[in-house]
Amino acid sequence: MRGLTFHGNGDVRVEEVPDASIEQPTDAVVRVTMAAICGSDLHVLQSGEAFGFAPGARLGHEFIGVVEEVGSDVHTVSPGDRVAVAAGVSCGDCVYCQEGKRYACTRMSMFGWAPRLWRHGGDVQGGQSQFARVPLADSTLFRVPDEIASPERQATLLPLVDVMSTGWHGLISGGAGPGCDVAVIGDGAVGLSAVHCARAIGARSIICMGHHDDRLTLALRLGATHTVTTRNPDEIRELVREATDGHGAHVVVDTISSEASMQGAHAAVRAGGSIACLGMDHFKGQVPAINWYDQFVRNITVTGGLIPMGHYIPALMGLAARGEVDPAPMLTTRLGLDDAPEGYRMMAGRAPGVLKVALEFG
Ligand SMILES: [Zn+2]
Ligand SMILES: [Zn+2]
Repeated sequence: MRGLTFHGNGDVRVEEVPDASIEQPTDAVVRVTMAAICGSDLHVLQSGEAFGFAPGARLGHEFIGVVEEVGSDVHTVSPGDRVAVAAGVSCGDCVYCQEGKRYACTRMSMFGWAPRLWRHGGDVQGGQSQFARVPLADSTLFRVPDEIASPERQATLLPLVDVMSTGWHGLISGGAGPGCDVAVIGDGAVGLSAVHCARAIGARSIICMGHHDDRLTLALRLGATHTVTTRNPDEIRELVREATDGHGAHVVVDTISSEASMQGAHAAVRAGGSIACLGMDHFKGQVPAINWYDQFVRNITVTGGLIPMGHYIPALMGLAARGEVDPAPMLTTRLGLDDAPEGYRMMAGRAPGVLKVALEFG
């Protein structure tokens, strides 16, 4: 079979790789029908050697497909089922999974990530391949509702497994609810996902902050009520207050989480509000300073963090099946698997009009 592999910083290739097969009774093999390139895959492209990626490692943690084969101890899915695959593996049984905190699952691993980044290993290969082995299939795979199970609805389904789950996590961890005001920092796929989810939750003002006209236009289409393009914290404070009856946002979703974005987040949030940090800038060793004084005197909650992989997929599939979310427009670019390295280059180079690349498998 063919799959996308890492061969050193800046070098990804599509080549023949070992077939995916059942190794444990709890495994399934999924025939991948569509996979996406994620912003975090670009961190691997640029800095994979520092993260511990070895040459030949298969990348990709955003994929959907059809169950090809199941092990003898898999009970919730069967061959032929169309499935969404959580971005990471979790057991569903441990104390953390039972509490909905799958990010801390005692058997957690991530598709397409270097083992040393995760406490309990990351020895599962990525899903930007024709087939993928899925460990702990009963809790890592989710059968897709009929309404969004057709091949034509794949672009609606695929973003739910990671970027929409991440946007949703920011809102839920920040305590967003109907009628609240939400500000989102960043106009990438996670930022637009947070915007789109905020509309589904019933937020009142939804302010998207970014610097790309095409993406901010898409943000308005997906639910943003206001857009802000300045990086100046004082201007951010003023513009967000204008959009929120003078108080600021109840929840700020910061999809970048750099020092500069955190200054913007503190400027945008109202007293007693929350900042949900979803960005990965600190993976590069840049730990942003937090404004502890502002956090204390205005009782700001800082939350967010790694998503509980898979936990939100059933709820999001329900919203999509009912037509309350449809993130398909975020997949701006479709390529075949053999063109995946070009897709990485397009996303890394921020090619105009390219928000997110989907790989379609023929
Ligand atoms: Zn991702
Ligand atoms: Zn678990």
